[in-house]
Amino acid sequence: MEEIKRLSIDTVCAALCKGMGIEPPREAADANPYLSAYLREKLGGNKLDRVVLYNPDAVAQWIMEKYPFHFRHVTDRAEFALPLETVMPSVTPVCFGSLYTGAQPAVHGIQKYEKPVIRIDTLFDALLRAGKKPCIISHGKASMNEIFRERDMDYFWYEDPCGANAKAAEVILADAYDFIAVYNGNYDFSMHRYGPESHQALGEGTANAFTFAALHDLIQTHWQGHRTLLGFAMDHGCHEIDGNLGSHGLDMEEDLFIKHYYQVL
Ligand SMILES: [Zn+2]
Repeated sequence: MEEIKRLSIDTVCAALCKGMGIEPPREAADANPYLSAYLREKLGGNKLDRVVLYNPDAVAQWIMEKYPFHFRHVTDRAEFALPLETVMPSVTPVCFGSLYTGAQPAVHGIQKYEKPVIRIDTLFDALLRAGKKPCIISHGKASMNEIFRERDMDYFWYEDPCGANAKAAEVILADAYDFIAVYNGNYDFSMHRYGPESHQALGEGTANAFTFAALHDLIQTHWQGHRTLLGFAMDHGCHEIDGNLGSHGLDMEEDLFIKHYYQVL
């Protein structure tokens, strides 16, 4: 396979839409050609009828590559790795804004750490127009719980991430949604407090990988009648700062370079 060029995170949205056979959101960048090629190869002429994106906050490419053992439950199960560059400033609402609109921050409107409802066309609007049922599952102070509100869709919110993970399993078993976004902020939380390579943060990264594995295995056993794309799709990376703390938001590779993992099931 040809080498995959690192493109912007804004290219993912239209590729997901093409894979599902729906029109992308109006301001979305051109579809990522590598993700599109992977989907074409796996699907033949068919379309995805389910997409599940697991969104682990701040899991940097360099962390996954430096500590592969912690993430092997992802890399063992997802065959397609897609290097991406996230957008600036590399903070959560800005980056998820671009992932789920396909647009740059200047276009979707969130250009700093703030959480207004995004007013431009989003992936969720595109799904709704196509008659699909999306939902967002999140916890805590998640941007994902705020910036895509006010659409005619379901939002599930829990105080703690275990509630969100359990809800993700429940909605897979109920087979009630075409598109499921599941947010987990535990790695980000521990990375800020203890540092990106602390045992606390790496433990949360491992927990993210286990959750991904659980969703993968549930889909594999319970959605045999569907063509599903499962993704391990983070928003941005992170770097260490003084005092064994972690941060992100800067124009540097550690913060900007991420690698999504995808698998058609
Ligand atoms: Zn984040």
